[in-house]
Amino acid sequence: MILDLFRLNGKVAVITGANTGLGQGFCVAFAEAGATVIGIARRSCAETAAKVEAVGGTFFEVLTDLSAPDASKTVANACKKLTGRVDILVNNAGIIHREDAVNVTEASWDLVTNLNEKLVFFLSQAMTNEFFIPQGGGKIINIASMLSFQGGIRVPSYTASKSAVMGLTKALANEWASLNINVNAIAPGYMATNNTTALRQDSDRNDAILCRIPAGRWGTSNDLMGAAVFLASDASSYVNGFTLAVDGGWLAR
Ligand code: NAD
Repeated sequence: MILDLFRLNGKVAVITGANTGLGQGFCVAFAEAGATVIGIARRSCAETAAKVEAVGGTFFEVLTDLSAPDASKTVANACKKLTGRVDILVNNAGIIHREDAVNVTEASWDLVTNLNEKLVFFLSQAMTNEFFIPQGGGKIINIASMLSFQGGIRVPSYTASKSAVMGLTKALANEWASLNINVNAIAPGYMATNNTTALRQDSDRNDAILCRIPAGRWGTSNDLMGAAVFLASDASSYVNGFTLAVDGGWLAR
């Protein structure tokens, strides 16, 4: 039956940035679809754990700073101990620094690109070597952005990193599709989370953004759940290297 292809029963999903925002939504979505969830975060995931358990799921937390050297190895080792397998990786953790391009410092640039871009590559590599190749397949979902497609304003390091995420999604898909590893991305539109608090509090920017979204509203983590479960499931086994916009029509405008 077609709906069975979307089920994630028996799978283990690893989500970075699991304590809040979109990452928390992915944890709940995968748990509802039947997966065991490992949430990676710097801060306690107690709220996410409670939401996963409320839908009958199992949640493990790994607390670590993903900007630390060797973070990808730390995560892979923790997963080996917790579940011994991983089927799905969501590279969700990300940060944004807003600053005029003329004032951006090298330290700020490195913080943003190390987490948003470099970690995406090395965590994907670690999971692929440690789990996906030995297990005969896996799913990687990278969280891209509208700024994978567009330039944005006052966020050059973020735009560079999210454009890289879309490129990496294609590059890794080309190498790993034949290994039964699907690498795809979701490009969320403008979503109401901590990441966009500053924008939503600036009434001019808030109005300008809302006017341009055909759906007429900010997105929420619930809006991404269907796309995430699709890309994590057997229903998407012939989808490779694609970045799926879930944006209320923003890019169509
Ligand atoms: P958020 O700020 O609410 O969540 C970011 C997550 O990343 C948090 O869980 C945070 O703890 C984690 N994180 C940040 N630095 C970390 C570190 N060094 N180590 C471990 N964890 C760390 O933002 P969000 O909106 O939920 O963003 C999730 C992803 O979606 C990000 O990659 C973001 O760029 C992307 N995104 C968001 C929007 C939006 O409109 N909110 C749009 C497009 C893309």
